[in-house]
Amino acid sequence: MKVTEDLAELRSLRAAMNGVFGLVPTMGALHAGHASLVSRARAECRHVGASIFVNPSQFGPGEDFNNYPRTLEQDLALLESLGADLVWIPSPEMIYPPNFQSWITVEGVARPLEGASRPGHFRGVATIVVKLLNCFQPERAYFGQKDAQQLVVLRRMVQDLNFPVQVVACPTVREPDGLAISSRNVYLGPAEREAAPVLYRALSAAKEKYDTGERNAEVLRDTMRTIIRAEPLASEEYVSAADPETLNELQQIDGKVLLSLAVRIGRARLIDNILIEG
Ligand code: AMP
Repeated sequence: MKVTEDLAELRSLRAAMNGVFGLVPTMGALHAGHASLVSRARAECRHVGASIFVNPSQFGPGEDFNNYPRTLEQDLALLESLGADLVWIPSPEMIYPPNFQSWITVEGVARPLEGASRPGHFRGVATIVVKLLNCFQPERAYFGQKDAQQLVVLRRMVQDLNFPVQVVACPTVREPDGLAISSRNVYLGPAEREAAPVLYRALSAAKEKYDTGERNAEVLRDTMRTIIRAEPLASEEYVSAADPETLNELQQIDGKVLLSLAVRIGRARLIDNILIEG
């Protein structure tokens, strides 16, 4: 496995790799969710690359950029054990030099949900992903369904801007009690950790209603709200039952629906979702 911080070196290592190249962008603090993306890429591609970069521009003021967990040595050991070929660890100064002034803004699908709760978040995400695609030139790029809106935004961007890359969505990896694995779960104290499966419980209860025939989206949102509100350590930021492509809130469901929610527990802001394919 080659590891570099230098872009010129990255480009020359990459240029020597023929055949399908798969990229897994990450912010480090790697866990089983990231590992599932790398393993999928390993199974599907001749060469596997990963990036580790805590992207400052996707954090809002007052968010956890400074406290975001950083575990570089463990991350590299995990990537090596999973068979990654090429890892890029760019510096913030290289990615955002002092005169940097070009940003990618995706419009409609980046506005609701996370976009409304975290202004500027997807501008930061879209911009770093464009830079990673330009630097690695992958044929395939792997992202987690855990960040469902991110996938919608990046698919839109790749299509709108004609990037020759296939975006691959990978299923959410969960703890045995249903909590979606996240680098931010380390912020949870013991009681908060016990409360945290409430997100998946709320999503599962709404899905159960769908499975038994409920098609009124407001009933599904209410089901989620009631369960979140019953957990004293949890406070709801949003619950949503939306069209998975437009992300517009649905009233009546007659095809697919993306159930999603954002919840604060202590100092952790947790998101989760279930995609119902209809
Ligand atoms: P991050 O390091 O949080 O930016 O995540 C890097 C990639 O891993 C993103 O595409 C995430 O959606 C994905 N990811 C994070 N957590 C999970 C999980 N529990 N299951 C599957 N993918 C995940």
